[in-house]
Amino acid sequence: MAEVEATQAALVDVSKTNSVPGEGYDKKCIFCKIVNNEMGTELLHSDEEVSCFRDIKPGAPHHYLVVPTKHVGNCKSLTKEHVPLVKQLVETGKEILQKNNITDLSDVRFGFHWPPFCSVTHLHLHVLAPASQMGFMSRLFYRLNSYWFITVSPLLCTCTKKAIVHDLMI
Ligand SMILES: [Zn+2]
Ligand SMILES: [Zn+2]
Repeated sequence: MAEVEATQAALVDVSKTNSVPGEGYDKKCIFCKIVNNEMGTELLHSDEEVSCFRDIKPGAPHHYLVVPTKHVGNCKSLTKEHVPLVKQLVETGKEILQKNNITDLSDVRFGFHWPPFCSVTHLHLHVLAPASQMGFMSRLFYRLNSYWFITVSPLLCTCTKKAIVHDLMI
């Protein structure tokens, strides 16, 4: 319980200290460490806003995690201010796929684990391709709009409280 409260306090701090150097870093968070190059994980993309690296347990031949470079909590905590960020995660995911010669964007899976089904609280977009080559367990784990895995458009709807988002088809 104390642990949970500490984490929540840390998240609140992050949003309050938006202009301080080192902002958005949760020292207990593995993804913060990865994007800060503390884990020796190869970063396939890294800029101020978004970073990308391979999932350590790939569920498909290509399996990338696209994350905000600054710590942002899981998808339940998102609001409409996060919509541009989520779209940026998606765009970066598509770029990484294209760089890796995945051009058929109809055979990909993009989505987020819905709390409490995330092992890491740092917001992360799963990008899997080709979706047709996902094994049985991965299909289950990254199942389209199950109560544990949410794709991008429904997530944006929950952020904005709108029924339908028309400009993203994933
Ligand atoms: Zn983090
Ligand atoms: Zn996940």
